[in-house]
Amino acid sequence: MAIPEHSKSRISKRAASFTESVIREMTREAMKHGAVNLSQGFPDFAAPEDIKKKAQEAIAEDFNQYAITWGTKDFRDAITEKTKWFLGLDIDPETEITVTCGSTEGMIAGMMAVLDEGDEVVVFEPFYENYAPDAILSGAKPVHVALRYSDHEWNFDRDELRAAFNPNTKAVIICNPNNPTGKVFTRSEMEFIADLCKEFEVICFTDEIYEHILFDETQKDEADRKPRPEHISMAQIDGMRERTVVVNSLSKTYSVTGWRVGYCIAPPDISGAIRKVHDFLTVGAAHPLQKAGAYALSLPESYYDELQADYQKKRDFIVPVLQDAGFGCDYPEGAYYVMTDISGFGFDNDIDFTMHLIREVGVAVVPGSSFFKTPGLGDQQVRFCFCKTDETLEAAAERLRKLRNG
Ligand code: GLN
Repeated sequence: MAIPEHSKSRISKRAASFTESVIREMTREAMKHGAVNLSQGFPDFAAPEDIKKKAQEAIAEDFNQYAITWGTKDFRDAITEKTKWFLGLDIDPETEITVTCGSTEGMIAGMMAVLDEGDEVVVFEPFYENYAPDAILSGAKPVHVALRYSDHEWNFDRDELRAAFNPNTKAVIICNPNNPTGKVFTRSEMEFIADLCKEFEVICFTDEIYEHILFDETQKDEADRKPRPEHISMAQIDGMRERTVVVNSLSKTYSVTGWRVGYCIAPPDISGAIRKVHDFLTVGAAHPLQKAGAYALSLPESYYDELQADYQKKRDFIVPVLQDAGFGCDYPEGAYYVMTDISGFGFDNDIDFTMHLIREVGVAVVPGSSFFKTPGLGDQQVRFCFCKTDETLEAAAERLRKLRNG
């Protein structure tokens, strides 16, 4: 198509200021080259039968028109009950919950509800790649604070974090358990962040979609492993409930990433604003899938125990495979990703290495630089995900062995 001559820019400055998602692009590359896809974090196994059946029944029972904009009553009630059981928090389903199209919409609707032009948003780096575009689309400016890897842990420098907060800071984003690092923030770290939020009147956006994916300690010897850490929500920290937006979804916990059903839990004034933004962005999330979501959230504790145990097995399979193939990495504490160091392979950068891995070895990953804003950081790292069937992980392992053996 011939684009007409024009003097005005046809693309907004905001849209021009960020790039396409590299994570989603890598899935397309994997499909093009027939690579085993360990890039984008979505399960390649079936969603639970009973949850699928509830969705089918809801369609058959004709829950096929718009739901209430901020979510069906039964789904919001189920969120309230599960949050009480899992986090011990009392949430009012009438005023504090907004059901969204995935946590992706939850995060951007939340940010558009809270942020103004000129506001600053503190984001830990490496980050899940949606956060900076979310901030930019909300008119705000992301300010990055490093998570650095040393002594087998990803940590931030408390002075550096404090220095990033100033009177223009309106929000901070944490992802806990963390994508891409697998870090689980300690109570002491969260209290430090909470104190800054209180001092500077800052809202905390907390992405907790991996809340049920936590692992035993990283020692290889099973006998030495400490029990897995407990999930702590920022909303549980003293004085944070009233300044926190919890973003969550069905995607990872119930293996239904394509359903696009998520939710925000926020104090009534912020929820009111999120509901307005959400209404005009999307009207609402899929009605029959919210019905199935109400069922999913009422599953017994054993469901979550099995999920963790399954993912822990997958983690414990893939990490030694990666280490043997020459990647520098440790066992993550949570989420389903492994960030790895590729400096042993002698490639100029992560993009060249990723393309080599996809095209010549047949395994797709996400280049590390897509999780960093600071130039140069991440260019000797790639991220693997392990939310895949044992067969897929075996197939990847087989191919990765070739990497070392040439
Ligand atoms: N969270 C997933 C990842 O980091 C992908 C999510 C998405 O693509 N919407 O790979």
